[in-house]
Amino acid sequence: MFNAGEYAYKIGTFYIFVAMNAGKLQTPIDYLKGVGPSRADLLRSELGIHTYQDLLNLFPNRYIDKTQYYTINQLQPTSADVQIIGKVTHIKTVGEGRSKRLVATYIDQTGAMELVWFKGLKWIRERLKINVPYVAFGRVQRFGSTYSIAHPDLELLEEHEKGLRAAMQPVYPSTEKLSNRGITNRVMNGLMQTLFQEVHKELDESLSPDIIEALKLMSRKKAYLNIHFPQKQENLARAQFRLKFEELFFIQFQLLVKNQLHKKKIKGYPFENIGENFTTFYNKHLPFELTGAQKRVVKEIRNDLGKPAQMNRLLQGDVGSGKTIVALLTMLIAIDNGFQACLMAPTEILAIQHYQGLSELCEKLDIKIALLTGSSKTKERRIIHESLEDGSLHILIGTHALLEDKVQFKNLGLAIIDEQHRFGVAQRSKLWHKNDLPPHILIMTATPIPRTLAMSVYGDLDVSVIDELPPGRKAIKTVHRYDNNRLKVFGFIRDEIKKGRQIYIVYPLIQESEALDYKDLMDGYESISREFPMPDYQISIVHGQMKPDDKDYEMNRFVNGETQIMVATTVIEVGVNVPNASVMVIESAERFGLSQLHQLRGRVGRGTDQSYCILMTGHKLSEDSKTRLQTMTRTNDGFEIAEVDLKLRGPGDLMGTQQSGMLNLKIADIVKDNEIMKAARGYASAVLKDDPQLQKPENAPIRQTYAALMKFKNIWNYIS
Ligand code: ADP
Ligand code: MG
Repeated sequence: MFNAGEYAYKIGTFYIFVAMNAGKLQTPIDYLKGVGPSRADLLRSELGIHTYQDLLNLFPNRYIDKTQYYTINQLQPTSADVQIIGKVTHIKTVGEGRSKRLVATYIDQTGAMELVWFKGLKWIRERLKINVPYVAFGRVQRFGSTYSIAHPDLELLEEHEKGLRAAMQPVYPSTEKLSNRGITNRVMNGLMQTLFQEVHKELDESLSPDIIEALKLMSRKKAYLNIHFPQKQENLARAQFRLKFEELFFIQFQLLVKNQLHKKKIKGYPFENIGENFTTFYNKHLPFELTGAQKRVVKEIRNDLGKPAQMNRLLQGDVGSGKTIVALLTMLIAIDNGFQACLMAPTEILAIQHYQGLSELCEKLDIKIALLTGSSKTKERRIIHESLEDGSLHILIGTHALLEDKVQFKNLGLAIIDEQHRFGVAQRSKLWHKNDLPPHILIMTATPIPRTLAMSVYGDLDVSVIDELPPGRKAIKTVHRYDNNRLKVFGFIRDEIKKGRQIYIVYPLIQESEALDYKDLMDGYESISREFPMPDYQISIVHGQMKPDDKDYEMNRFVNGETQIMVATTVIEVGVNVPNASVMVIESAERFGLSQLHQLRGRVGRGTDQSYCILMTGHKLSEDSKTRLQTMTRTNDGFEIAEVDLKLRGPGDLMGTQQSGMLNLKIADIVKDNEIMKAARGYASAVLKDDPQLQKPENAPIRQTYAALMKFKNIWNYIS
């Protein structure tokens, strides 16, 4: 079995071992030949390179294939980067002031062209050799009938032909400051060569022979050689695969270790019985048949709860996928084992909806449910507090109010948190301290984080996914309309209202305090009031600058069907359930992110009627906006949308992932390299299962690398 304390101790001893052994890679970058103090400062500040190892792990952004040489008469006006062997015959300075430049005539057997410099004229002029063969490389442009390359990479043919010269030229990440201060890509290449000669003996294998054999991986040393000095495409591809796999393997390994430590450390109450309440409800009172996905998830949860370790599970399911019934079944298991359960929602309205819905579902069971929110009366509170403490209350539903010190459970066994991103981590952990042993935790979210990403972001949570909607749901029809079609849209709204439906009209409010957005909203409200006048139409308005009481009042009018139109900002984004609402109009839709659009759309399509989502925009749209709108009109699948979102914005921006700091990946791409990530996780998991303490000799490379990574935290500091 896995022993946390022992493991930590072992890692402690590894530190010393690795620190001694990997000395050279940890050398400050200042000491590398060709660097020196001022370049070292630049490398540190511009690229975060502090040590030899950091430089070694600076991977090229792209490669230029220099396996081809061109003659001057082969040149085409394509602006492509090419290399040409030739000689400089003349140098002259032309122009004045800012257009002053150095022009060299460059010839080969087939013709003549120009090489041009705008900066560093004196320096270049002094060094250029006349009538000596060079290799010139750069982007070719044509002016009149003459080809030229501005600021070419110029290298003596003699130098070019010897040494560790890459046939394919790596292009390293750079900044303007770096190139202005003379740390060009060529300098980078040179530094990489020097570095490689210094450290190549220390590039020990990091993976076990089994894994290397199974995946036919290139050795670590060879992979580094080929990533920095590739000779041909095929080897480069293998090197990239190897290094990506390695990176993802150790990330997954670390997450799995963390997960195991977590399980070991935190004991929990085992819920061994499946009893009266669960069985009765499941067999007699289920209002519908569970979907396959719901069944699977309930099974996963039951399995977790049966163990004497605390459950920490994230339940992901798109809006309307039916998470509530799963929550209830989970609570019934807790109750059947003699425990209490609580369900926390981010807003009062949501808490009330849960309370009403769950009370109805449990009508025929002998279960007591109560609601506690900020507006609960003192007398109600007292009753709740008492019945919680004497154990007669089984389920408490509420808002943040659940976290007050006065709320003391007799024996809380399960805490369910709905729409987790509205709660801070601190608030989450506060619940843990209500009892001797922490309750099991189930977090429900509709934020569709791609499965593979969830693995990395929520490494310490187990993830269940409801990836199937209940049968008979009508897909929401989504259309994109330009502002000048507004009258038609209003006509459509009028028809829907005539049929008894309700309408949402949402305005962007990126920052709740932005005066401009507020004005947009109010202008919109006024024009809608004119278009849909009282007393025929009733309109609610909700925005972030309203007092909570007023907000709830307006919201309730809409929920109860007293108003037909809800004009709102994104405050209605989360969770509200008004099955009668059939149209979601989103104004300035180009200003919303994909996940937000998807969340908003999820407010409709909850009843049996056909629902619609109308995305309103002006005519001026960026490429990204177009992609977002097209994605929305093409699909209702939250996971597919999340993938597009991820590609557009990168993982750092994805909703719900900011707090985790996300992965600072050096070579792998979390989206494109999904498959490698899955493989890496599989192998990491197998190794941990087979040899939890990494004691087998074949796992020594993994143990050493892992320990080194833990010690030199540069990859791991994203873990909270
Ligand atoms: P969410 O995952 O967004 O919280 P809910 O739990 O509120 O979704 O469920 C949305 C609606 O779908 C509810 O009206 C619920 O009764 C219904 N529902 C849930 N599961 C099923 C099912 N298996 N078959 C039919 N209807 C279902
Ligand atoms: Mg819900």
